[in-house]
Amino acid sequence: MKFDQMYQSDELVLSVEIFPPKTEKGVRLLFEELEHIKRHQPAFISVTYGAGGSTRQRTLDLVKAVRHRIDIETVPHLTCVGASQSDLSTFLDDAEAQGAENIVALRGDPPKGETVFRPAADGFGHANELVAFIRQRTDFGIAVAGYPEGHQECKDWQKDIAYLKQKVDAGADLVLTQLFYDNTAFFRFREAAVQAGIHVPIVPGILPIVKFKQVQRITALCGATIPDQLTTRLIAYPDDSHDQKEAGLAYAVEQCQELLDDDVPGLHIFSLNNGHITSRLVNALSDYF
Ligand SMILES: Cc1cc2nc3c(=O)[nH]c(=O)nc-3n(C[C@H](O)[C@H](O)[C@H](O)COP(=O)(O)OP(=O)(O)OC[C@H]3O[C@@H](n4cnc5c(N)ncnc54)[C@H](O)[C@@H]3O)c2cc1C
Repeated sequence: MKFDQMYQSDELVLSVEIFPPKTEKGVRLLFEELEHIKRHQPAFISVTYGAGGSTRQRTLDLVKAVRHRIDIETVPHLTCVGASQSDLSTFLDDAEAQGAENIVALRGDPPKGETVFRPAADGFGHANELVAFIRQRTDFGIAVAGYPEGHQECKDWQKDIAYLKQKVDAGADLVLTQLFYDNTAFFRFREAAVQAGIHVPIVPGILPIVKFKQVQRITALCGATIPDQLTTRLIAYPDDSHDQKEAGLAYAVEQCQELLDDDVPGLHIFSLNNGHITSRLVNALSDYF
């Protein structure tokens, strides 16, 4: 089923993001974790595309394996990093051959050690160009990234919204947001997006905090902030302890409840391949899903 159909009804849409493990053992463990996720019948599972296209084949292989083994719509991510138009076309053809009906279209980050994004020869410099390219060639449902706190390269978050509008105008059906922990940032972003004429579903991206130090590293990279009151709740416990994990999960439940009470179309959970925590979060939200 395509994105536009998934979000058509009033029912909340649950989606979960996973990444392709590097080893066979990692894949085996991921499928054990996916058993927890499968119980909740998410509308789709999306599979990330590694920095610099490093997981190109693994992304496609995992899309195929998840689709066949657990029969849930599985959506590959695709970035412009190091990719010519011909590389992008090949990826789209392969994804289509594997039964994909949707795609998450991204520009990607500059490779390690570089601060400025440089498009590949004959490639694209921004995600709106990739969206237009996909729309021209395929029938895929297309999701793009949105940034409640602004993108790290764009100092003016309102300008970032104008760029988001370009992605939607180029043919995106859906916005999946970057992770955030302060719902007021999301509400402000959503309001500004609607005012800018963005009328596709805007789905909050949620990363439950299991290991605080790990999430601090992720937020430092993507420019999201961790509110002081959340930090205070988490640092009351040793890093990576059971109590810290429980505190992180409790915050995620409260955060999601507030979002779901405020008319979001669904949740996109960044699982970091942890099916158990994802499942506990969704179980705690059983009044909604
Ligand atoms: C839900 C989600 C999933 C993700 N999955 C992956 C993944 O699988 N693999 C991966 O490598 N990364 C992933 N990312 C990260 C993403 O690749 C980075 O955030 C990247 O830096 C920006 O990608 P984008 O598609 O938002 O780019 P763009 O929309 O192109 O934006 C990039 C920057 O350029 C600016 N900009 C946009 N359009 C224009 C324009 N036309 N002219 C001038 N400036 C412009 C924006 O303000 C922004 O600062 C994901 C992010 C999210 C939110």
